[in-house]
Amino acid sequence: MPRKNRRAPDEGPQPLRMPQSAAPVSAMVPGFDVRRVSGDKPYVCPGCDLEIRASTWHYVVVPQEAPDDRRHWHQRCWEIELNRTRGRRRDP
Ligand SMILES: [Zn+2]
Repeated sequence: MPRKNRRAPDEGPQPLRMPQSAAPVSAMVPGFDVRRVSGDKPYVCPGCDLEIRASTWHYVVVPQEAPDDRRHWHQRCWEIELNRTRGRRRDP
């Protein structure tokens, strides 16, 4: 008898329980999904090691190859980080 193909659950974008919006183009970087979010939990920013307070708009940065490895950044710190990494590209 006909069998329905069972679809594996999509590893698509998972609904985060926080409001979010697209990050400005200036915050985008190839290989990462960058979104602007405002959460109700504090996070620690890897840029400055300081707390991102709850309800503060900040960026969540998700490596496309390692979605579990996402980080929350202050907007300012992420921009600084981008400037830094853009300034010293890995030379082949
Ligand atoms: Zn920071």
